Amino acid sequence: MNRECPVDIGPLAESYHLGLLSPEQAAALEEHYLGCPRCTAEIERAETYVRAMRAAGRRIRTQERRDFTTAHSA
Ligand SMILES: [Zn+2]
Repeated sequence: MNRECPVDIGPLAESYHLGLLSPEQAAALEEHYLGCPRCTAEIERAETYVRAMRAAGRRIRTQERRDFTTAHSA
Protein backbone atom coordinates (compact mmCIF):
# COMPACT_ATOMS: atom_id res chain seq x y z
CA MET A 1 0.00 0.00 0.00
CA ASN A 2 2.54 2.55 1.14
CA ARG A 3 5.35 2.35 -1.40
CA GLU A 4 6.93 5.70 -0.63
CA CYS A 5 9.68 5.76 1.96
CA PRO A 6 8.73 7.73 5.08
CA VAL A 7 10.16 11.22 4.82
CA ASP A 8 12.40 10.71 7.83
CA ILE A 9 12.68 7.01 8.61
CA GLY A 10 15.34 7.47 11.31
CA PRO A 11 13.23 8.94 14.12
CA LEU A 12 10.29 6.76 13.07
CA ALA A 13 12.46 3.67 13.32
CA GLU A 14 13.66 4.67 16.78
CA SER A 15 10.10 5.35 17.94
CA TYR A 16 9.13 1.97 16.53
CA HIS A 17 11.71 0.14 18.63
CA LEU A 18 10.87 2.24 21.69
CA GLY A 19 7.21 1.26 21.33
CA LEU A 20 6.13 4.85 20.82
CA LEU A 21 4.21 4.32 17.59
CA SER A 22 0.50 3.57 17.56
CA PRO A 23 -0.41 0.04 16.42
CA GLU A 24 -1.57 1.54 13.12
CA GLN A 25 1.72 3.44 12.63
CA ALA A 26 3.77 0.37 13.53
CA ALA A 27 1.77 -1.82 11.14
CA ALA A 28 2.18 0.70 8.32
CA LEU A 29 5.90 0.95 8.97
CA GLU A 30 6.30 -2.85 9.02
CA GLU A 31 4.30 -3.17 5.83
CA HIS A 32 6.63 -0.74 4.13
CA TYR A 33 10.07 -1.64 5.42
CA LEU A 34 9.66 -5.40 4.96
CA GLY A 35 9.60 -4.72 1.21
CA CYS A 36 12.17 -1.94 1.22
CA PRO A 37 15.89 -2.79 1.67
CA ARG A 38 16.77 0.82 2.44
CA CYS A 39 14.26 1.10 5.28
CA THR A 40 15.06 -2.40 6.54
CA ALA A 41 18.67 -1.26 6.95
CA GLU A 42 17.46 1.85 8.77
CA ILE A 43 15.23 -0.20 11.08
CA GLU A 44 18.15 -2.45 11.92
CA ARG A 45 20.40 0.54 12.56
CA ALA A 46 17.78 2.02 14.88
CA GLU A 47 17.41 -1.28 16.71
CA THR A 48 21.14 -1.32 17.45
CA TYR A 49 20.95 2.29 18.61
CA VAL A 50 17.94 1.75 20.87
CA ARG A 51 19.52 -1.36 22.38
CA ALA A 52 22.70 0.57 23.16
CA MET A 53 20.64 3.40 24.61
CA ARG A 54 18.71 1.00 26.85
CA ALA A 55 21.96 -0.60 28.02
CA ALA A 56 23.31 2.86 28.83
CA GLY A 57 20.07 3.65 30.68
CA ARG A 58 20.49 0.59 32.87
CA ARG A 59 24.08 1.57 33.60
CA ILE A 60 23.26 5.09 34.78
CA ARG A 61 20.16 4.09 36.74
CA THR A 62 22.09 3.91 39.97
CA GLN A 63 24.04 7.03 39.19
CA GLU A 64 23.18 10.69 39.22
CA ARG A 65 20.76 10.88 36.28
CA ARG A 66 17.78 9.20 37.91
CA ASP A 67 15.42 11.61 36.17
CA PHE A 68 16.47 10.22 32.81
CA THR A 69 15.54 6.62 33.57
CA THR A 70 12.34 7.68 35.33
CA ALA A 71 11.26 9.65 32.29
CA HIS A 72 12.14 6.88 29.86
CA SER A 73 11.02 3.72 31.62
CA ALA A 74 7.79 2.40 30.11
ZN1 LIG B 1 11.55 2.59 2.30
